[in-house]
Amino acid sequence: MSRYLSARYQALDRYVPGEQPQDKQYIKLNTNESPYPPSPEVIASIGDREVSDLRLYSDPECKLLRSKLADRYSVAPEQIFLSNGSDDILNFAFMAYASDGGKVAFPDITYGFYQVYADLYRSDTLIIPLNDDFSIDHTQYLGLGRMIVLANPNAPTGLALSLSEIEEIVSSNPNNVVLIDEAYVDFGAETCLPLLSKYENLLIVRTYSKSRALAGARLGFAIGNPSIIDDLNRIKYVTNPYNVNRLTQIAGAAAIDSDEYFMQNCRRIASTREAVEQKLTDLGFEVIPSKANFIFTKHPRFDGKVLYQRLKERGILVRHFSLSRISQYNRITVGSEAEMATLIDVLKDILSKG
Ligand SMILES: *Cc1c(COP(=O)(O)O)cnc(C)c1O
Repeated sequence: MSRYLSARYQALDRYVPGEQPQDKQYIKLNTNESPYPPSPEVIASIGDREVSDLRLYSDPECKLLRSKLADRYSVAPEQIFLSNGSDDILNFAFMAYASDGGKVAFPDITYGFYQVYADLYRSDTLIIPLNDDFSIDHTQYLGLGRMIVLANPNAPTGLALSLSEIEEIVSSNPNNVVLIDEAYVDFGAETCLPLLSKYENLLIVRTYSKSRALAGARLGFAIGNPSIIDDLNRIKYVTNPYNVNRLTQIAGAAAIDSDEYFMQNCRRIASTREAVEQKLTDLGFEVIPSKANFIFTKHPRFDGKVLYQRLKERGILVRHFSLSRISQYNRITVGSEAEMATLIDVLKDILSKG
């Protein structure tokens, strides 16, 4: 740290991203990336011409992408906001609705970035513990009178709330934004898109990083009431109007055109997930039933951290969180069928050696 850094940033806890090690080839099951490449249309969409055009700025309004997404989700283009990954949108939303003592609530076990943003913007934060089985008690979010941020399905548990539970939360907090982070919704949970026409305080956040196999392109979008989208644009235009680069806009548009390819991969990943959950259960693991592209699991005979380390030694990376309530667990991304077969073989071997 230099001596020039503003006092307010000196003590902030950082978000800790999953490892992206370069030392050797791992089976990477730690950051919920897709095991499958983007569609052939996405790959073909970027050539010499598009690279040459990088001399030009990108479209700050993302017009093409907004109109394609509006068609895809049956909303108006004014209801769509695009940004440099959905983390960027979460950042803007905390800045817009929970800064300088603004009130916000989220669960104790959820996406770690929410707490980082709440600290950054000095929010008045209410942390609501999950139930013992890691489910969210939605009744604790009714009539809270503060911004609410929920990942649905939740991370790292993979458990989802139903549409009617989310509707109760949204309708009982009419004077606050309810942000539903649907990063993993395409793997089997219910989207709350049908609520959009009824509630002006609902903000849905999505990402291309998981179900669209474009984590490295950095593209996220939000769907909401036009006035909420206008708020996000205000913040974008006082920070970084060109926040979605040209190549990403082109790839993102091609991805919408080949939506069926991606949805098919999501279904394939969901069916791999079911098969692996069964195999893990057979090996004695406790498995939280997941609606996402990862499995949250622990073994009664193995410390979570030790299992993470054993797997890493054997070339398989999974995600371990040191937070005490979940330190016995690991979050395992659902990879390809072949990767998961290797995982199961390696786990059998580790378990047999005690
Ligand atoms: C991965 C993830 C994000 C971030 O996605 P990016 O678009 O890559 O920034 C946001 N929320 C949750 C719950 C996630 O798991």
